Parts: sequence; C-alpha cells; structure tokens
Amino acid sequence: MDLLNTLVDKGLRRELPTREEALAVLATSDDELLDVVAAAGKVRRQWFGRRVKLNYLVNLKSGLCPEDCSYCSQRLGSKAEILKYTWLKPDDASKAAAAGVAGGAKRVCLVASGRGPTDRDVDRVSETISAIKEQNEGVEVCACLGLLSDGQAERLRAAGADAYNHNLNTSEATYGDICTTHDFSDRVSTVQQAQAAGMSACSGLIAGMGETDADLVDVVFALRELDPDSVPVNFLIPFEGTPLAKEWNLTPQRALRILAMVRFVCPDIEVRLAGGREVHLRSLQPLALHLVNSLFLGDYLTSEGQAGKDDLAMIADAGFEVEGTDTTTLPEHRRGGCGGAQPATGAAEAPAATVPAPSDETRRDLVAVRRRGAGTDLPPNA
Ligand code: SF4
Repeated sequence: MDLLNTLVDKGLRRELPTREEALAVLATSDDELLDVVAAAGKVRRQWFGRRVKLNYLVNLKSGLCPEDCSYCSQRLGSKAEILKYTWLKPDDASKAAAAGVAGGAKRVCLVASGRGPTDRDVDRVSETISAIKEQNEGVEVCACLGLLSDGQAERLRAAGADAYNHNLNTSEATYGDICTTHDFSDRVSTVQQAQAAGMSACSGLIAGMGETDADLVDVVFALRELDPDSVPVNFLIPFEGTPLAKEWNLTPQRALRILAMVRFVCPDIEVRLAGGREVHLRSLQPLALHLVNSLFLGDYLTSEGQAGKDDLAMIADAGFEVEGTDTTTLPEHRRGGCGGAQPATGAAEAPAATVPAPSDETRRDLVAVRRRGAGTDLPPNA
C-alpha cells in the first residue's frame, strides 16, 4: 500500500504524517490489519528495537473525586464499587512500588484522585518519592496528581520526580462532552508547567468514549504538538456506575489501528499501552507489542489487569525483551529534555468519520474492580 510505505518513510525520518494519512490508517480494513501492524512495527523497531518498558501504577488516594470526568470510576457521583481510601503512607506506597520494581518495572507512577494537589499533598508525595527512591535504586518516579498550581511542578521536581503525567484524553472540541469541571486548556497548561520545571512529560488519550476518528486524530496531533516524552493510550474501561458504562465501541482490530496511528504520528516517542488493553485487545494483545514500546505491568488504579507474570510471559513469547534500568528509553536525539520532535504543522483538514456502531455483544464480564494491592491487605499483582 502506498499509504503504508509513505508512513513508514515518514516515521523513519520523524516526519509528521498529514491528518488525512492518520485518518486513513483508522479507516483501513481488517484485511489490511497485519500490513498496518507490520508497517508501524518497522517504525517502532527503528527507534526502540524490541525493548518493552514496564511501568507500575500505585494509587496513592482512591475515589471520592470532586471532578466529573465521565470515564472515571473515581468521579463525583460514581456508583462504581471501587476501593476508596485516602493518602497511603510513604512506607506503604514504597512497599507497593517495590513489588512493581521486583516484577520488572523501571518506572513507578504515583497517582492520586482529585482536581489537583494542595501544597500539603505535594509535601506528602515528596516524602513518598524520597522513600521510593531510597529503597529502589535507579527507579524512575512519575507523579500524576491532577492540575498543578504555581510552583508545585518545581517542588515535585526538587523532590525527585522524574516525570509528570496528565492526559489530554480526547480532542479539544469534545472535551466538554466528557468533563464539565475543568477544560482542555487546563490540562495543556499542567503538561506545560511540568515540562517547564524540567520533568519529563507524559500525556495521552482514552479511546472508545464515543469519539469520531477525527477526534482521535485531533488529540494525537495535539499531543505531538505538546511534545511529551511518553504517550499512554488507554482504551475505555466502561465501569458500571459511570456515565460511559455502555460505551463498548472498540474491537481488537480497531484498538490496533489506533495504536498504529499513534505510532506513525509519534514515531520516536514512548507509546505506552495503558488501561483497557486486556478488555479490548483480548487475545490480540501480543500484536500490540509491535506498535507500543511500553506498558503498565499488573493492575490499574481501580481495575485489575492481567497477572504480572502473564505480562512477562507475553513479552517473551512475542520475541520482545523487558527494558532494564541500564538502558535509556528514548532515542539519543530525544534525551536530556522534553524537546526533539518536530511541531505539528501543515496539517490539512479532512472530513470527520464516525465511530463504528457498538457491538451487540458487550464484555462487562471482563471489567474486574481492583481488590488487591495498594490500599488493601492483599499482595499486589506485579
Ligand atoms: S480522572 Fe482524575 S480528576 Fe477526573 S474524576 Fe477521575 S480522579 Fe477525578
């Protein structure tokens, strides 16, 4: 296919595809799926070889958020029967993190529900970062605490945070449909504050919320323009008790096309397979390793993931290797800062496409609320 040859050439040169090309990837047929995966896989191997970086989530504070993000089981008014607890003590968070590191994770992601941290919360997280770094040599720590106020990014950086995560989630045009308590520009601003403070920025999206192909392309182009070092791609986990509980819009094939599109637009950026991979990719998960170079090990914030040992077996079986702490994730030209990629310019307009009709067969049986690990007495999944 001319399209795929063009996209491979551009990906190897770190050149931005056009919007039409990105949309065309999403519009490819199931007959073309393996060709799409193989093409994006060439770009993945050029910049990241066969390495897979493992990241481990620790939910420092779960549930009872005052914000109303529709996709989130921790949102205001959520009826999802998730674990609810307030701040983990630094030692408990460090123990949870150590389990992830022992399982092969090189980055620990410290997440707290809420609009954003208070200054006291930043103190707590700073103590937690110190405890984790003291007890786990060489581990990278990413904080994900919501919208940041002035000076907080600098304080987190000074406390040892290597990275800050704040996802854009969906396109600016549809952001108001998924959340009314903050807006897209608030999210962009927090990512930029993290970058300005010298932290590596991590910002991604959620697919499967009823968005159009054009929305998906818009958010990925917006991310490329922000130039984060990592882009987590989540697939909506439709929790019972949230407004998006009935949004089962994805097939494994569509999930792979979305990952391929993200790889073509962000060729040399860490693309991370995030929440929902088990639910939506199901038995096609190993194919996604040809597209992403990073994933979350074990459980998510409020739902259970595949057993950590199965993640490791899947990586080995598919011919990939877990990235060690002695290896730098990003290619040489992107190291030492958040820059390096070309800004998104010259994107041409293309007509909006619509999402496929939801399948009659929903898979609610696949959504398992987390009942182990941080905030419980049961061992974590790592
Ligand atoms: S995504 Fe974050 S801010 Fe939004 S409801 Fe969930 S915990 Fe709150």
